Amino acid sequence: MKIKKYSIPESTVIYKPKSPFIARVISTTALTEAESSDEVRNIILDVSGSGIHYIEGQSIGIIPPGERETGKSHKARLYSIASARTGDDGSSTTATICVKRVYNEDNMAEAKVPGIASNYLCDLKPGDSVALIGPNGRRFLLPDDDSTDLILIAVGTGIAPFRAFIRHIFLEKGFWNGRIRLFYGIKNAMEALFLNDQNDDIGQYMTQETFEAFRALSRVHNEDEEKGYVQHKLAEHKQEVWEMICRGNFAVYICGLKGMEEGVDEVFTTLAKQQGLDWPTMKAKFIKKGQWNTEVY
Ligand SMILES: Cc1cc2nc3c(=O)[nH]c(=O)nc-3n(C[C@H](O)[C@H](O)[C@H](O)COP(=O)(O)OP(=O)(O)OC[C@H]3O[C@@H](n4cnc5c(N)ncnc54)[C@H](O)[C@@H]3O)c2cc1C
Repeated sequence: MKIKKYSIPESTVIYKPKSPFIARVISTTALTEAESSDEVRNIILDVSGSGIHYIEGQSIGIIPPGERETGKSHKARLYSIASARTGDDGSSTTATICVKRVYNEDNMAEAKVPGIASNYLCDLKPGDSVALIGPNGRRFLLPDDDSTDLILIAVGTGIAPFRAFIRHIFLEKGFWNGRIRLFYGIKNAMEALFLNDQNDDIGQYMTQETFEAFRALSRVHNEDEEKGYVQHKLAEHKQEVWEMICRGNFAVYICGLKGMEEGVDEVFTTLAKQQGLDWPTMKAKFIKKGQWNTEVY
């Protein structure tokens, strides 16, 4: 039987590409440091008057202005909502997204080609209008049962829905009885979104008894830091992670770039094999039950 997840409010209005909601940018701030090789921005949108009631784990679509070469409008790009349902100001009229400025690596091109939507979004200024669709997503949602152990695995901007989860749990709801373990892979400490000195939106809740977060840095700059990917952090904590899986009352969420799934699967394949179990069979069952949730792009 499927585990029961949070319900999407029936009252929410869902916008479609033909008639998007025009939101307004309230603020846009860099989440990465100036010296960082990547730029990720935290963009807060005003959705007041839209009738949108999103919940944690959902995404919104943004339609960049202009047309494709075919003369058709640009397609919408999805962005995970990084705020909990009441928004970052508690007014229930805002939605936060965190957007990485992306360049398409074309070996043949002399210059890097800017990604359409991410560069459009990262260049927006407060007061600008944005065509928005959604909210979308019915699966990547928290379980109803708060004694469920949560295993959250993210790389880069994949942290966005987990910021929403954590803020909902500790700020809006106030507690979670199950254990919450966040494994987060980034290039270096400058890109540790929501887990750094300037913005500790997630890190601040590590004082909570049930919550622990582990960071993996893939490019280290000094000897004190250990180099590794998110799957290495997961493997370091394999005993507890496997115990959660065996206990049975768990939900795993994986979010970020597509390539991350392989490393995560390797860890679980090894763990299962040690018990004489077949990971693909187990995983298929967990997916069916809503216990294994993936949102990669
Ligand atoms: C469910 C879902 C949630 C998403 N949430 C977020 C989010 O919270 N934050 C966010 O920044 N993006 C998110 N994305 C990705 C986003 O939708 C766009 O694909 C991304 O911003 C690139 O769009 P673009 O128009 O700038 O690039 P395009 O002009 O469409 O070019 C796409 C190219 O960019 C590459 N690309 C896409 N994302 C990245 C990345 N992060 N790093 C490196 N290369 C990339 C693609 O592989 C492709 O080559 C999400 C995607 C999905 C499906």
